[in-house]
Order: sequence, then structure tokens, then C-alpha cells
Amino acid sequence: MRVAVIGAGIVGVAIAHALLDQGHAVDLVDRDGIAAGASAGNAGWIAHVDILPLASGKAWRNLPRWALDPLGPLSIRAAYLPKLLPWFARFASASRPARIEASTLAISALNSRALPAWERRLEALGLGHHLRRHGLLSVWSSEAGWRAAGPLIERQRALGAPVEALDATALQALEPALGPRARFGALYPSGCHVSDPRNLTLDLGRSALQRGARLLPMEAVSLRRGEDVGFHHSLGTALYDAVIVAAGAWSKPLAASIGDHVPLDTERGYNVTLPSGRLGLSRPVMFEGEGFVVSPLDTGDRVGGSVEFAGLEASPNYARVDAILTRLQRFLPQAELSGGTRWMGFRPSMPDSLPVIGAAPDEPRILYAFGHGHYGLTQAAATAEIVADLLAGRQPAISIALYSPRRFAERF
Ligand SMILES: Cc1cc2nc3c(=O)[nH]c(=O)nc-3n(C[C@H](O)[C@H](O)[C@H](O)COP(=O)(O)OP(=O)(O)OC[C@H]3O[C@@H](n4cnc5c(N)ncnc54)[C@H](O)[C@@H]3O)c2cc1C
Repeated sequence: MRVAVIGAGIVGVAIAHALLDQGHAVDLVDRDGIAAGASAGNAGWIAHVDILPLASGKAWRNLPRWALDPLGPLSIRAAYLPKLLPWFARFASASRPARIEASTLAISALNSRALPAWERRLEALGLGHHLRRHGLLSVWSSEAGWRAAGPLIERQRALGAPVEALDATALQALEPALGPRARFGALYPSGCHVSDPRNLTLDLGRSALQRGARLLPMEAVSLRRGEDVGFHHSLGTALYDAVIVAAGAWSKPLAASIGDHVPLDTERGYNVTLPSGRLGLSRPVMFEGEGFVVSPLDTGDRVGGSVEFAGLEASPNYARVDAILTRLQRFLPQAELSGGTRWMGFRPSMPDSLPVIGAAPDEPRILYAFGHGHYGLTQAAATAEIVADLLAGRQPAISIALYSPRRFAERF
């Protein structure tokens, strides 16, 4: 088949490879080239041990504290609030215990396939050197926070992720740069990260081109369906046997152009990348309850996180990065944190923290693969395998019912 993949972020390039495996002719369509969106600057975690949706007790527990701090881990720009209300209503609804449980199982099903899928893909392409297997570490400063995490850690273990509980002494021994504020820790030895998310995406994109894919530097303005499927662009219409929409946070208007209204919004995230080694950490660390993580990437020590609801147009508020660094300094008292490069990116986020993967309700030749939120890098290779199965008419290895574009039936 001739297939257009709209979006050359990590999800799009992973899909391109899965389709090339099947002998399809692939056009990667991106207005800004490979790795132009969120996939360029994320934290680089293969966070396959994570299982909780954002709409969970953990977020609601922290919400009152976060809401009072305009530069805290979560914020909503006042001007954007009216636009966000439908998404937020869905988020609240997804926070009911039965929905949290369903989302947890659906995240876990996809994440359980995430690392093996990446291993298969990277080994096959000779790109295995991008994986760093140093584990992932979560730290807590308060005993109450640590205790509250107990049930989640037990659940992760039950779902097959090894977790080592660490006290302050063990934390110090593991990561000597951590100061006394880091009192409790959970080490996920099977967790890993990548060399640098942009370099990984670029390498995957280049190797897709070497395998015969074409890169079309153009913007898809809307989708086309009818006798033929394809997309409209500024110079006309491109027709294909199938179209995959993997345009990250910008996928919503494309789906809407053929009548599919999905409550996709963006959780904007920020980071700063410092020269390598500045933090003195040997593995990625999540500072629980603080809303930021650090990643010792090959290209520098990256500090970032935060969730800001302000849409796709508002300019970045880099004061958020400074606030993150102030909070980080309390955990890494000796680290020199000045002089980094700042970045802001758009997580493509659904209210239930599940991606949209599946055929357009009325057009099996148009498939959606977007909305991976905090886990797009983690889940891209597994998503790509599902998309290739769907295009071939095969049953995917896991149920995709909960990723369905139909799950939010109402118009937004
Ligand atoms: C601060 C931060 C930290 C993160 N950390 C992690 C992490 O550690 N691990 C993890 O798994 N995930 C992480 N994420 C999430 C992850 O980055 C995203 O989920 C992922 O990058 C989404 O990939 P994507 O390919 O769907 O979208 P993108 O990378 O955004 O790519 C979409 C592409 O589509 C193109 N495009 C859009 N519209 C059109 C159009 N109409 N026509 C043509 N091209 C179009 C854009 O130019 C862009 O290149 C993080 C995100 C942020 C912001």
C-alpha cells in the first residue's frame, strides 16, 4: 500500500518503520521535518514501569497545593480556562475509581510491550546503542508522600516491575549528589532512558529514509475521505491507500476535518538542559510530588517537567523553568544550576491519559495514533506495531478497545 504518515515525531517515525517492515511505500509528512515537536526535547525516559493515569488520586491529592502556586507543577492560564473546561470535565470523569482502574490496566498493557518493542526495533536497525539501562529512581522528601505511594509500588510489583525500596542511607550510597532532603526512594532497575530523544528520533527518521520512505516537507491542512483517502495541503490533494495521523498535539483539527471530534489538548512541559555531569547523577530521577524529573542524557543533564494548560499558541513562560531549578537545588545542594538551555514542548494529552490508536470510526483506511501524553517516547514502538497490525487486518497483541477514537462520543 501507499501510506502517508502525517507527523515525523517519535510516533510517526516508529510507525514508518513498522509499515516498511510490511512492505508498504511510506511517505512521512511533516511541515517542520523530523523531530520538530515534543519528541525533540522530552526527558528521554522509557517509563514502561509507570502505570497511573494523570487523572488519579495522586494528582488530586497534590492539586490544592499546586493550584496555589502559579509556578508550581501544574497551572492553567486564566485566559485558556474556558477552552479547557470540556477537557477538564472529562478529566474529572476519568478520575472515578472504576475509570482509573480501567486506564491503569490499559496503560500497563501498552507499557508492558513498550520496552520489548523498542528493543526489537532498535536492534533490527543497529540503533541499540541509544538505550541506557541504568534504571529509574523516584525520591520522596516526606514520609507521608512515601507512605501514600505504597499501594502504587505494590501494584507495580504485582504487574511485574521489580521495585527496590531505599532509605536515606541507601539513596546517598546510590546517588551521592542527593542531599538530605531526599529521604525515601524507589529504584526501578528495569527502567531505562535514551541517549537523547531528538537524536534517537532523527536516527530513526534517517534510517526510515534509507529504507525507502520519503520525507514530504508539507503541512496537511485537512484529511480527505470518500472514494480515495489522503490529505489536502496548500498546493492540492495527495491521495494514498491509507493515511496515519500521528501529528501529536496538532492532531485534533485533522481528525475533526473528517468529523471525528476527540478531546485532545496539550499539557505544555518545560525543561532546561545543563552541561553534562552538572547534576552529578548517574540515572534519571523523579522528584515525587514536585512535578519534575532529571535525566543525565548524552547531550546534557536535563531538568524538567511541569504541566501547563495554555493551548498551542501562547508564548512560553520560562519562569516555570527557574521555579523548577529552585526546587531542584533543595535536593542537590552542591549542584551548579546556571546557564542551561530552556525548552518548552507540547504533550498531546487525552483526559484519561490513554492514546488514541485505531481506525477513524467511518473510514478504516485512516488510522489515528496520537495523544500519548507523558508517554509518547515510551509507547511509540509498541503503538507502531499495533498500527501495522491494524493496517494488515490482523488482531493486535493487546486489546485496543480503550484507545478507541470512539470512546469520547460527544462533540467537543
Ligand atoms: C517536558 C516533557 C517531558 C517528556 N518526557 C517524556 C519521557 O521522558 N518519556 C516519554 O515517553 N514521553 C515524554 N514526554 C512526552 C513525549 O515527548 C510525547 O508524548 C511525544 O513526543 C509525542 O510524540 P508525537 O510523535 O506524537 O508528537 P510530536 O513529537 O509532537 O510530533 C508531531 C509532529 O507532527 C508535525 N505536524 C503537526 N501537525 C502537522 C500537520 N498538520 N501537517 C504536517 N505535520 C504536522 C509536527 O511538526 C511534529 O513534528 C515528555 C513531554 C514533555 C513536553
